[in-house]
Parts: sequence; structure tokens; C-alpha cells
Amino acid sequence: MSQVKYKRIILKISGEALAGDEGTGINPTVIAHLAKEIKTVHDLGVQIGIVCGGGNMWRGETGAKLGMERAQADYMGMLATIMNGLALQDGLEHVDVPTRLQTSIEMRQIAEPYIRRKAIRHLEKGRVVIFGGGTGNPYFSTDTTAALRAAEIDADVILMAKNGVDGVYSADPKLDPSATKYSELTQLDVIAKNLKVMDRTASSLSMDTDIPLVVFNVNTPGNIKKVVMGENIGTVIEG
Ligand code: UDP
Repeated sequence: MSQVKYKRIILKISGEALAGDEGTGINPTVIAHLAKEIKTVHDLGVQIGIVCGGGNMWRGETGAKLGMERAQADYMGMLATIMNGLALQDGLEHVDVPTRLQTSIEMRQIAEPYIRRKAIRHLEKGRVVIFGGGTGNPYFSTDTTAALRAAEIDADVILMAKNGVDGVYSADPKLDPSATKYSELTQLDVIAKNLKVMDRTASSLSMDTDIPLVVFNVNTPGNIKKVVMGENIGTVIEG
């Protein structure tokens, strides 16, 4: 454990990162890759909480644009995050990593309800805790959930696992060849420069709780471990 920089982490995996090249749905090869990557960090004794997104299946905003009532559409998004959580749990169990799925919306037949103290106890016992269902409230995001759960479990860091993007850039590198990657930022920079890292609610909560954030490319094997060991392979954002 001596070389490990972060001993308790929240890993935020967007729905998109579970979809692979298809862009939607759940890709089993991607799940297997992520499970293997998470296992390497679990083997180091790192306590891991995972917040998964749902954008690979449904976003409330999309439903609202199609004329749905926003809260109703958001609940569909929250359910999508729970499906992703079940897929991740399955992938992790296939590589013998003990897990618990806790959901912010009760679903006792398939998951535990979210109970902060119980989640911390699981982490202490070496179980990976997957937080499904977002915050349980419409109009919020899973980025905000990551910031919230990180504060609640007293995590050392939030790891923002990106799908093919290795950090935060001054502009979209696919559209602007002059875009440069930041190796360090503050949450204030993110808000002031309007950088696409997380939504404003999540950024301002992270700023208040002072928990650092690391944005990195999760597709490259070994990257989660590198970040946990303190190697700066992405962008570090201080609260
Ligand atoms: N969502 C919500 N409240 C939350 C978290 C998520 O209503 O606390 C809904 C919202 O509709 C969102 C969807 O779930 O669009 C999927 O979450 P998110 O967009 O954060 O997923 P990601 O972009 O990380 O895949």
C-alpha cells in the first residue's frame, strides 16, 4: 500500500464508457476490460466505490426534448444507471472481486438500498460498492452523484474515467488541432473557462468538498492503476 496515493476512491464511469464503439447499450468486452482494470486496483487494497452513468441507454434531457415530462424522463435515466450497475457487478464477480450494488431508489430484490454507513463498512471489508440510481432525484446527474458519494464516504479522489479522451483540453481536440491538454486545473478554472468536465452542480459541489478529481482515459490498459499510484497521466482538478 505504501506507493498507493489514493486509498479510497470513487470511480465515475459514464454510460458511454460502457458502450464501446457502438455508442449505445452495454458492450460485454468493455465490461470485462473494466472489471480487469478495477481488479488490479482492488488487489492493491484500494477501497473502491463506483458511480455509473446511464447515457448509453437514456438521458432525461433527451426525453424532455421529445416532449416528455422532465422528472419522468429523469427517472428512466436513473433506472438505466442501475442496469449498468448490474452489468458492472456481473463483470466484477466474473473476476472474483466481491461487490455490493446499492441503489438510491429501493429495489430490494436486486440491490441493497443506499445506506452510507453500510457502504463504508463494505469498503472496509474489501467489497467494491457500486452506487446505482444516481442521487435518486430528477434534475441531477451522475457526475453530481460522484461528487456527493465521494464526500459522503470521505473518498480521497474522484476518478473520471473517460472513453478515449486522456484529459481536459482547451477545446475539442477532434475539432481544433491547436487544442492543448491541461495537466492541472482548479474547479474554479473549470467553471470560469466553461470546460466540459462535469456539470456546474457537480463542479460546485466538488469545489465545496475539496475532493480532487482526475480525468483520464480508461480505455488504455493500466491507467486506473497509474492514477491510483499518483502518476499524472490525465488532468488533475483540485477543489
Ligand atoms: N439522473 C437523474 N438524477 C441523478 C442522476 C441521473 O435524474 O441523480 C438521470 C438523468 O436523466 C441523466 C440520466 O439519469 O440524464 C443518466 O445519467 P447521466 O447523464 O449522468 O449519465 P452519463 O452521462 O454519466 O452516462
